[in-house]
Amino acid sequence: MKNIFNTLLGIGVLALLFLTSCGSAPQRGSNAGTVLASATFLADIAQNVAGNRVRVDSLLPIGADPHAYQPAPRDAAAIAQSELLIVNGAEYEHFIESLLENAGGEGKVIEAAAGIGPREEAEGGHGMDPHFWLDPNYVVVYVENIRDGLAQFDPGGAAVYQSNAEAYIAELKELDSWIRGEVAQIPPERRLLITNHESLGYFADRYGFTLVGAIVPGTSSGASPSAGQMAALIEQIKASGAPAIFLDAGDNETLARQIASETGVRVVTDLHIESLTEGAPAATYIDMMKHNVSAIVEALR
Ligand SMILES: [Zn+2]
Repeated sequence: MKNIFNTLLGIGVLALLFLTSCGSAPQRGSNAGTVLASATFLADIAQNVAGNRVRVDSLLPIGADPHAYQPAPRDAAAIAQSELLIVNGAEYEHFIESLLENAGGEGKVIEAAAGIGPREEAEGGHGMDPHFWLDPNYVVVYVENIRDGLAQFDPGGAAVYQSNAEAYIAELKELDSWIRGEVAQIPPERRLLITNHESLGYFADRYGFTLVGAIVPGTSSGASPSAGQMAALIEQIKASGAPAIFLDAGDNETLARQIASETGVRVVTDLHIESLTEGAPAATYIDMMKHNVSAIVEALR
């Protein structure tokens, strides 16, 4: 995927279409200056940088899981019509590869996570962990990459993107200290996370949690555990004393309920990791993080 992006970046610079005197509020559905982000939370992060100068739409609808997304023909059309596409990268959006090939490589791509070194997976070898956005400090890097990409795309807006990025980075730093304060309520020995797939690695690294295990092996939602892997996870949970399993609102609860019945752990079913929500509780990236942290603190403290 990286190669495709690099190629597109090269083509994109030549084929670059400029935003024309678009100083007023961005217009939804306008064909001029169409900026697309792959996922809802990325669109929100990018919109904070773009401000009123350009509108950023999400390719995926609210609630869709980018790991498992099956693109529709309209997605290929949307990408073909967009002038700039913002992706997470780090193998998060597998569905985009074929879309980019079909779109003929006319757009330009910003990889938000470019330059961040991925963490080692706890177990498996299923590829790199793309979930950097669960640590707001990495989202600062996303913002810098998006700021630079937007400024290259629309040089006249560079100063606006710079000042919007600064303001949003201040909010992200505030979020980071808020999370530290909340997590401090959890006794260190109870900072244990079990998730559906391995999605909270960067969050765990930053805020001092241990990943006890994941129901679905690896860092994507696509796989299923074997009977042996389920049995091993149940043993890990019993041995660790982890109090809860945390699922994304879009996850199937069946296996978690099965594990809970054998271990007595609580199942928290309403984290929002892969998508924002329409309105509360996760209408923005910052709200999404606050909601997740509150749910984690509530279950573990
Ligand atoms: Zn995930």
